[in-house]
Amino acid sequence: MNAQKLQTPIEYLKGVGPNRANLLRTELGIHTFQDLLNLFPNRYLDRTKFYKIQELQRNNADVQIIGKITHIKMVEQKRGKRLVATFRDETGVMELIWFRGQKWIKDNLKINQPYVIFGKTKWFNGSFSMPHPELELVKEHKNKLRSSMQPIYPSTEKLTNSGITNKVINKLMEQVFLDAKNAFTETLSKPIINELKLLSKSEAIFNIHFPENGERLARAEYRLKFEELFYIQLQLIRKNLIHKSKIKGYPFPVVGDNFKNFYNHHLPFQLTGAQKRVVKEIRQDLGSNAQMNRLLQGDVGSGKTIVALLSMLIALDNGFQACLMAPTAILSVQHYNGLVELCKGLEISISLLTGSSTTSQRKVIHENLENGSLNILIGTHALLEDKVKFKNLGLAIIDEQHRFGVAQRSKLWHKNELPPHVLVMTATPIPRTLAMSVYGDLDISIIDELPPGRKEIKTVHRFDSNRLKVFRFIRDEIALGRQVYIVYPLIQESEALDYKDLMDGYESIVRDFPQPKYQISIVHGQMKPADKEFEMNRFLKGETQIMVATTVIEVGVNVPNASVMIIESAERFGLSQLHQLRGRVGRGAEQSYTILMTSHKLSADAKTRLATMTSTSDGFEIAEVDLKLRGPGDIMGTQQSGVLNLRIADIVKDSEILKIARSYAFQVLKADPGLTNTENLNIKNTFAQLVKYKNIWNYIS
Ligand code: ADP
Ligand code: MG
Repeated sequence: MNAQKLQTPIEYLKGVGPNRANLLRTELGIHTFQDLLNLFPNRYLDRTKFYKIQELQRNNADVQIIGKITHIKMVEQKRGKRLVATFRDETGVMELIWFRGQKWIKDNLKINQPYVIFGKTKWFNGSFSMPHPELELVKEHKNKLRSSMQPIYPSTEKLTNSGITNKVINKLMEQVFLDAKNAFTETLSKPIINELKLLSKSEAIFNIHFPENGERLARAEYRLKFEELFYIQLQLIRKNLIHKSKIKGYPFPVVGDNFKNFYNHHLPFQLTGAQKRVVKEIRQDLGSNAQMNRLLQGDVGSGKTIVALLSMLIALDNGFQACLMAPTAILSVQHYNGLVELCKGLEISISLLTGSSTTSQRKVIHENLENGSLNILIGTHALLEDKVKFKNLGLAIIDEQHRFGVAQRSKLWHKNELPPHVLVMTATPIPRTLAMSVYGDLDISIIDELPPGRKEIKTVHRFDSNRLKVFRFIRDEIALGRQVYIVYPLIQESEALDYKDLMDGYESIVRDFPQPKYQISIVHGQMKPADKEFEMNRFLKGETQIMVATTVIEVGVNVPNASVMIIESAERFGLSQLHQLRGRVGRGAEQSYTILMTSHKLSADAKTRLATMTSTSDGFEIAEVDLKLRGPGDIMGTQQSGVLNLRIADIVKDSEILKIARSYAFQVLKADPGLTNTENLNIKNTFAQLVKYKNIWNYIS
């Protein structure tokens, strides 16, 4: 069917009309013939099997039976009427029941003619019945396009109540196919179809709705999933390529004094192989004319900060300013202190801007930013305020990108003529498959190697009933000169209760670890920033041995002497949070520990999370489990879920297809960036449709 015909409004399909069209539009978003074709079944029922009434089980399953209606009666009840038909086969008898639409059914039922009935059986008062069965005369049943696998389409209560049942959708689908004569324009290229032995478009679309058999259905699904993922990837990769060719950035050709001086004389340690590789990747980006748009993923403690600094030094060497934005004041301060320390002996000016910067501090910062004497600005969201104007911002680094929306990211870009290069750093490893789908248009660097000499953090799970033992362990560690974190959950929905838990916990710890022998810090979100900073600093300097906190310490805080992380009510944390928290320890030379404290009542998911944490410390592995437990939408947050609004593919289950689709999309664009080769004509046309209708599935034709 040609593309134009498929855009026909759905009300012009035989059997639809204005009322049904309205419902289809509002309930399922079906506006056109094409939308209907793209309504893919949720599942399929096996209709190869016919049951005998005698064989029925009390399991509420969908069954199909052949028999005859021998008798019909209306039964009056207090709560309304119902229509009851007696249905027999050669093995027994049961009842068919209707609570709605009785008149029409009553007038149309044929007595003593063989019917195929289909539906869920109910067991009541010693016999089986089937409410609102699907019903078809055997002779009609045989004439159907329908196959033995019956598709079950997505539906809503309103649709069903308005008579647009699955059967009706089935019928409409048949009608579209009759109109189209099952001739749909191919959307993939010959080489791809041949190499992957894919079904043709027409075969696939037919078999997804009317599967000829299980094998054909599986191939139809594969083909359609591949296609969906292929075009998403094609779009992302093309965006990336266009970005590279169109979005100009300031080229930084020089690796100058700052970089060389620092690299040769001030580097406090040897870079790991992974750090070197990533610095190289960034240098390459910065050296080109294109604006860098790179995501740097590296587990907690993998050493992203030094990479950030080296990148900023390149910007400085080329006469530009740089900024580093972090999600919290604490983290900004820590970055600031760390970088000032690292840059001792270099002639670089670095400032810190957070919500608690004073007016006079701001005034100086604003001035020096605008006259260019300030080289590096570090801070929180405060960097995005309108008054903050760089003379020439060349590189913006964003730490922990999960906390910033994309809009905020782009806000930084408006500060100068060309956009600055952007490096987004995240310690929350994103599973590769998800990264491919959501950030497929970004370049990704990965630090997959921890600095040498790190000891594996020992992670154990302990029940609350073992608290005394845990406390004894804490005392022993403190006696060895170490410091300890104790973290409490703070979930928005139960904030008041959580604060109470935190304060109760704090008090009991103060009792068990009395002054003056023990000094204890507490940090939580309701404290003033200055107080938080004060307490963090006491812990950082080693003046306190225990830090009681909510998840505010989750991100980035670096206290190498802290070797124990106790997580209270660990069952309430998500995997990535647990992993982040664990990353707070194990930063020094000492053996470190994470103790996950929970009650005995644990959900299956919670058990999986705890088992994952105690069995691996690989952030990517943990992220994969997290993805399986929570699904992509929850992990990425709602802002990106649009990208993941897949119709037939599933990022988790179809990750293999995704990889293949991505590599094909790469190959195609690499060999033929403009899609001008004849063999890519189908792809070119489909892609044009896709761009036009802005929906991956709006192009089937
Ligand atoms: P993250 O990736 O979590 O931001 P950091 O940059 O804070 O990690 O680094 C964690 C710790 O490891 C810091 O104390 C840092 O000085 C140290 N570090 C980073 N890279 C190396 C390295 N190549 N060799 C030794 N220590 C390193
Ligand atoms: Mg960091």
